[in-house]
Amino acid sequence: SKKIVIVGGVAGGATAAARISRLDKQAHVVVFERGDHVSYANCGLPYYIGGVIKERDALFVQTKEKLTARYGFDIRALTEVTAINRDQKTVSAKNLATGETYEERYDVLVLSPGAKPVVPPIPGINEAANAFTLRNVPDTDKIHDFIEKKKPQNAVIIGGGFIGVEMAESLRERHLNVTLIEKQEQVMAPLDPELAALVHDQLRLNDVNLVLGKGVSAFEQEGTVLTLEDGTKLQSDLTILAIGVRPENELAKAAGLDIGETGGIVVNQFLQTKDEAIYAIGDAIEVMDRVSGRSVHIPLAWPANRQGRIVADNIFGKKTPYKGTMGTGIAKVFDVAAAATGNNEKTLKKYGIKYAAVHIHPSSNAGYYPGGMPLAMKLTFDPENGTIFGAQAVGAKGADKRIDVIATAIAGGLTVHDLQDLELAYAPPFSSAKDPVNMLGYAAANIVDGEVQPVYAQEVDRIVQNGGLLIDVRDPMERDAGFIEGSVNIPLNDLKDRLAEVPKDKPVYVSCQVGMRGYLASTLLRQEGYDVHNVSGGYKTYAAMK
Ligand code: FAD
Repeated sequence: SKKIVIVGGVAGGATAAARISRLDKQAHVVVFERGDHVSYANCGLPYYIGGVIKERDALFVQTKEKLTARYGFDIRALTEVTAINRDQKTVSAKNLATGETYEERYDVLVLSPGAKPVVPPIPGINEAANAFTLRNVPDTDKIHDFIEKKKPQNAVIIGGGFIGVEMAESLRERHLNVTLIEKQEQVMAPLDPELAALVHDQLRLNDVNLVLGKGVSAFEQEGTVLTLEDGTKLQSDLTILAIGVRPENELAKAAGLDIGETGGIVVNQFLQTKDEAIYAIGDAIEVMDRVSGRSVHIPLAWPANRQGRIVADNIFGKKTPYKGTMGTGIAKVFDVAAAATGNNEKTLKKYGIKYAAVHIHPSSNAGYYPGGMPLAMKLTFDPENGTIFGAQAVGAKGADKRIDVIATAIAGGLTVHDLQDLELAYAPPFSSAKDPVNMLGYAAANIVDGEVQPVYAQEVDRIVQNGGLLIDVRDPMERDAGFIEGSVNIPLNDLKDRLAEVPKDKPVYVSCQVGMRGYLASTLLRQEGYDVHNVSGGYKTYAAMK
């Protein structure tokens, strides 16, 4: 029977090992793991630090002992693989407890070494005994102990990705003063700026001091004083480095395997490297973006688990291609969820792909049933044929299921027209008879079918400044709470009678609160022969960006 050696015993590695044993009980599986724990819940680590997960033991999904007893794996924990010797088909291993080194033969090698946190070369960072990264159980224990023993008051988190944002919440749970620093102008890169703005609101509402658009330029006084690029100084008793991760590609690189531009190990659709005896999976590899077809690095748990299963199937001749990654993800940010799938507007722009977008602001469930919460959603799609590129949602309720439905639609090759046809579960406590996903379908199909021309909130100021006519079709009272500078107020119900005020010789732009009345106004004007554009998401989307 085959001898399969796996490097890395957590998400991808443990999944592969379990599936292998189900496919062939006789297979000899050796799992090397540098750390002391296998198959633990990385994704739960911030919640243990925050105290939401109370028992440390709950993080251990499986233990070495249980896995060995159930599957008969040969688990070598605290053992690092230091080299791959492709000619001999062996790996060199070092027992980190005893210092012993040895070689282990393989028929098939599976690399699932993950990704490691980026530690930027900021002056003074190495002298900061209060700065931590968060990847594994020892990191978690260190942060947990530091909080218990040193009782820090001021925490600074560097990096506004999902780990940074989750840590901001966890440290607020522990009653620390939290500053979150993000070098970009927004947190959570999978969101476009107007949706990220809602996450910013939520962070500020929960007393997180959010610093955007500035990086840290120096760590001083053993890391207790951080200097930002503009000279601002911050006191920090505890600093979390959550700048991002990069693939652990060193072993593969040294063995002459191909590494892509993203730093990920290059594999074919069967997850095989250029050496057919060596497969690679998880955070360490480069994958195909399932929407754009480009090579990307998307370090998330779903891909690692899916690839773990597929790799086992492929090793045992059950040829299964990995279809690519869409980056479907979600994070809890205090009282809201921020979720996304596929390509957002920033990505589509970067790739030069022609797209359109719609924004909606529905309630999570029927307005007349108590407990409905505002939901902000955005869909990106091909304006020619309605192919769905991606979606984003931020809200207290129901963001998760809408993004999951759209992720399913993208995987199934559905178009925006098909979204109109999805028959989704409805009763007033859960949704509306027209679910937000259906509404996105209607709004997007109107654009594809040429019934509405969108204009995006970020373009509006420039249009007005250049003398464009923007009609705000809301009621005058609504303008008291804010309006787009330079807009002219003609309420929707008056529009038909006041057409004389609207010149026909140039494009007209219409805007309302969320986009719905703007749509009605634009259909009216279109029928009167106007070249009309509706502000996607209305004043609500515009205001979120300010
Ligand atoms: P890992 O699970 O990281 O496993 C790799 C293992 O390989 C490591 O234990 C490492 O010690 C070992 N290793 C590396 N090199 C060697 C070597 N040379 N020899 C021996 N062993 C080696 N994803 C989500 O989708 N949702 C979430 O909510 C989420 N939350 C997260 C929160 C945190 C704090 C972290 C750190 C990650 C989170 N992730 C989340 C990401 C998710 O955990 C990873 O995508 C997933 O674990 C990747 O699986 P993997 O097998 O590639 O790597």
